[in-house]
Amino acid sequence: MSNIKHRKRGELIIISGPTCAGKGTIIRHLLKKHDEMTLSISYTSRPMRGGEVDGVDYYFVSREQFEEKIKNNDFLEYAKVRYGEYFGTPKQEIEETLESGKDVILEIDVQGAQQVKELFPETILIFILAPSFEELKKRIKARGLENNEQIIDRFKTAYKEINEINKYNYVVVNDELEEAILKVESILIAEKCRVDRIEEIAVENEEEILHEFIIGKEFDNTPVDYNKDTK
Ligand code: 5GP
Repeated sequence: MSNIKHRKRGELIIISGPTCAGKGTIIRHLLKKHDEMTLSISYTSRPMRGGEVDGVDYYFVSREQFEEKIKNNDFLEYAKVRYGEYFGTPKQEIEETLESGKDVILEIDVQGAQQVKELFPETILIFILAPSFEELKKRIKARGLENNEQIIDRFKTAYKEINEINKYNYVVVNDELEEAILKVESILIAEKCRVDRIEEIAVENEEEILHEFIIGKEFDNTPVDYNKDTK
């Protein structure tokens, strides 16, 4: 009936949400299942934590190195997210990956999301929420990684971020992990079917189709009386 030509360029997807909402776990599942998706690795000036790997979790750099990169205009966006430390999305890699047709996921905070949305209004913005503040408190404590001051800081940031939810296109509550993953996947599938994301729809020649349907043979440009049989 028609030939739909999807845009070759990949989609830019932002996944944000308060600490311990489960963004990382959801993203890991998506990446395992979808070869066409990649995760952008950010730069940060914050110290590396135990178990983290440079070039996998982040590119860990000093503040001076980060500021040098700001000067060089190397970031698509950057922000001071927590404890005054910088986090930033590298520009060049993303542009190249999108051009190659792969989707790029950015796991960034609300300040960064806002900057990217202004640059690329078509970005798909998804906010992941924990089911309640009580549950969030439990998850933060269960991580048991940080001191009280840092826990309070995480909680305050979470509270602030939740108030920014209206800047996003979608919100997914991560109560049941499987269900949350399915919802994010469904959002991305639906987004790709949007008419404004299609480059071209080539509808086949109506006269040709009608001819083949009624006459049952190749179209040869000879004028045909379609009402012949019904006369
Ligand atoms: P952490 O890795 O310290 O647990 O949390 C990092 C926080 O910074 C998360 O909220 C994460 O979404 C955000 N973040 C990570 N990378 C970037 C980035 O490149 N840009 C911005 N704006 N935020 C980031």
